[in-house]
Amino acid sequence: MMLPACVLTVLKYSGNFVLDQSFHTIVIGGGCLGTAAAISIAKRISRRGHAASDVCIIDKMIVGSGLSARHSGIVRAANADSTAAVLAQQASEMWANLETHWGVGLNLENTGALWIACDTGGGANAKWSGLQKSLREQGIDFSQLSLAEARQICPDFVLLNDDEVFFHESGAFQVDPSNVRETLYSAIKKNGITLLEKTEVQGFERGESGEVAKVMTSAGTFKCSYVINASGPWSPAIFAGMGLSIPVSVELVHVANWLTSLNEMETGMPIIADYVNLAYFRQWRDGEIHMHQPRKRGIRETARAFSESPLSVLGADFMNDPTNQALGYSQMRVYEQLARRRFSNMDQTVYGSGYRSFFDITPDLRFILGPDHRVPNLIHSLGSGQAFKYAPVLGEMMAQYVDGGGPLADLGQEFSISRFSDGYMAEFWSKVQGTENVLQAEGAGL
Ligand SMILES: Cc1cc2nc3c(=O)[nH]c(=O)nc-3n(C[C@H](O)[C@H](O)[C@H](O)COP(=O)(O)OP(=O)(O)OC[C@H]3O[C@@H](n4cnc5c(N)ncnc54)[C@H](O)[C@@H]3O)c2cc1C
Repeated sequence: MMLPACVLTVLKYSGNFVLDQSFHTIVIGGGCLGTAAAISIAKRISRRGHAASDVCIIDKMIVGSGLSARHSGIVRAANADSTAAVLAQQASEMWANLETHWGVGLNLENTGALWIACDTGGGANAKWSGLQKSLREQGIDFSQLSLAEARQICPDFVLLNDDEVFFHESGAFQVDPSNVRETLYSAIKKNGITLLEKTEVQGFERGESGEVAKVMTSAGTFKCSYVINASGPWSPAIFAGMGLSIPVSVELVHVANWLTSLNEMETGMPIIADYVNLAYFRQWRDGEIHMHQPRKRGIRETARAFSESPLSVLGADFMNDPTNQALGYSQMRVYEQLARRRFSNMDQTVYGSGYRSFFDITPDLRFILGPDHRVPNLIHSLGSGQAFKYAPVLGEMMAQYVDGGGPLADLGQEFSISRFSDGYMAEFWSKVQGTENVLQAEGAGL
């Protein structure tokens, strides 16, 4: 006899049941996206007579210990995907006025960002000029600079070449990720949200309409009206027991910090988004140059992450395993060679620290946001690689999903998980095997 899904998920669970404790919303994952969702939802439902403590964040580790422990703290709005650019622009404004939105502040370093691309002829690059036009239409300051102007905003050791084109995003800023973690904790406390750390979500019990009626955890079972899934690359493992596939995987990325002379850093360095050498650079804590490579765009690399499909079994736990975090000598050398092309002082800098980590990625490299068409009260907020910057605005979007909709919820529709239904993945694999590599062209641009 086939057992109903709810019974199957209960059978997988073996913990202590604390029945009947209820929340309005349970947020799975205390990273930046989960925390932002919890704060916005708590603020909104408080206006309708609920207590903020009716929102509960559950994290199997601690707040900001997943991908949110390893980001570079760069907030920029320039993005070839125009909806993502709109969201990033709104998020930037929210980060800058966080006290108003979350009741706590965050120290921002207004460095701006210098984007560097190849000159494809006549001192221009048509693709990047097109990007400039579309960003400006959205009110994002993204302006081409001459070589001389670009030199003026960089320290002398930054190598800028006459076969490159330069764009300045004046509104881009950077933060120190350790301050972000502090801010997440303070905001959770300040807004009166319930936080269960070191508590693992282990299964779900579904109600008559297929909704999540109860969330089963290592600390007990909780009823709720809504579940926000902000567990990033752990999602496939968490929802596999319910029979839901969540197409998220991880892509390896390395980080290195090069210790430079503070005397050489007299001119503050803008964030350098180097699309000639494919690397992001920023000034880091102790006068270091921090670097990592952006997500890869090629269909084959994306496909490799999905074909290995490690996440349905392991979750993303291997990401936090110390043996997976060491930066190998050969990778260090690769980064050194890359950095030398951009910094004249690189051969006299000192390797400070480094680690390897992972971006969470979807097959089309775009977010998964909003309600899951298969489970009435389940709402996703998943990053797709570079999501720290969007956290406050995606938090507001999640609040609109649980409370009557709104413009952000409308914007989020194009990121619905339903796009992966109807044979999407079958087509994905056929594209991988084909000779055209269509997805390479379709992949989110920057
Ligand atoms: C090297 C690097 C540099 C980056 N730089 C930037 C940048 O400059 N700017 C930017 O915007 N983004 C950047 N990013 C991306 C950014 O770090 C992520 O997009 C963002 O942190 C994702 O946050 P999240 O809340 O979705 O996920 P996470 O922070 O991973 O949170 C998921 C949480 O779910 C919890 N969880 C998992 N399973 C369970 C379970 N069963 N029960 C309960 N909880 C569970 C985990 O413990 C974890 O805390 C960078 C990423 C990397 C790797």
